[in-house]
Amino acid sequence: MRGMTTETRITIEAKDVLAIEFTCPNCKTQVSIPLKSFSGPPIRCSFCNPEVQKQWLTPGAADYTQLVQLVNALRAFAEPNVNGNLQFGLRLHIRQP
Ligand SMILES: [Zn+2]
Repeated sequence: MRGMTTETRITIEAKDVLAIEFTCPNCKTQVSIPLKSFSGPPIRCSFCNPEVQKQWLTPGAADYTQLVQLVNALRAFAEPNVNGNLQFGLRLHIRQP
């Protein structure tokens, strides 16, 4: 008897990504920024005391720049005039929640 494997794949498109979320490791506050209005990642928690908390990001550093590029890429591929002109379908395969 042959075994059968059923695989459920969960995929999303760039346009399915609505927001990018940052969580403060200290106070656990979550800041969700819609991709539509994203102009750059927060560099620190706006609720924790700036004198005692560690800054999250430094503008111009690699991780800051990569976050900007990530959001820009998601926004670009979510655009119907970009996505519709692709010669292929583009989806992201995500882990099952
Ligand atoms: Zn905080």
